[in-house]
Amino acid sequence: KLSKRLHAVANFIPSGAVLADIGSDHAYLPSYAVISGNVQKAIAGEVVEGPYQSAVKQVERTGLTKQIDVRKGDGLSVLSPSEATCVTIAGMGGGLIAKILEEGKSKLDKTERLILQPNVNANFIRTWLIENGWELIKEEILEEDMKIYEVLVAEKGEPLNPYRGKKQESAILFGPFLMEEKNDVFIKKWKHEKRHWESVAAQIDKGKNTDESMSRREEMETLITMASEVL
Ligand code: SAM
Repeated sequence: KLSKRLHAVANFIPSGAVLADIGSDHAYLPSYAVISGNVQKAIAGEVVEGPYQSAVKQVERTGLTKQIDVRKGDGLSVLSPSEATCVTIAGMGGGLIAKILEEGKSKLDKTERLILQPNVNANFIRTWLIENGWELIKEEILEEDMKIYEVLVAEKGEPLNPYRGKKQESAILFGPFLMEEKNDVFIKKWKHEKRHWESVAAQIDKGKNTDESMSRREEMETLITMASEVL
């Protein structure tokens, strides 16, 4: 059984896609996509030997070696330029996901959809999408086992579309769709972050005033104000 988090990612895979799942680990996501009949062909990419081996074993165990190609390598380098129509990258920080996309963007010629699931720092991904001609078309936020995850879905298009009428800096941090929907999980996540920023600010106020601490204090103040506006 797939986790709620990976299920949310799988739900956005278009049927008939050639799927590339990068940082696949155990290859659960491509295995599920093939078994459910949604895709016929998938590539599971992994850079670390242990997870690569567990992907190979999982694919053999489920008898999917014809449909799922497990490849060892860094990020999108395992793909040829026009191979995947849908790319999923899940379960990492947003900074790493954005780095993988940036380093491998020449491999995205035929890619129609990106489904990205950052554990933290989704703002790095939204910024990358804006700078690279990808339009965010949907977002989801969910909680599983006391952890909160975001799922970002993007297609080639007009990258600033979802940000229209919004303060861009806030929309990049909170997510243009998520801040609109403002569900319970969203409120929980950002209340928690806001409390954290407030405690960082309070710590700074107790300490010595240096240029560095003052600029950090200002940074916290900006974030706290942004959170107050959205919550
Ligand atoms: N995608 C799976 C999921 O969401 O359950 C596995 C997530 S796991 C926490 C992250 C995986 O990404 C690890 O197996 C790690 O080895 C792999 N990884 C990290 N950086 C990578 C890169 N540059 N290229 C390919 N795989 C990478």
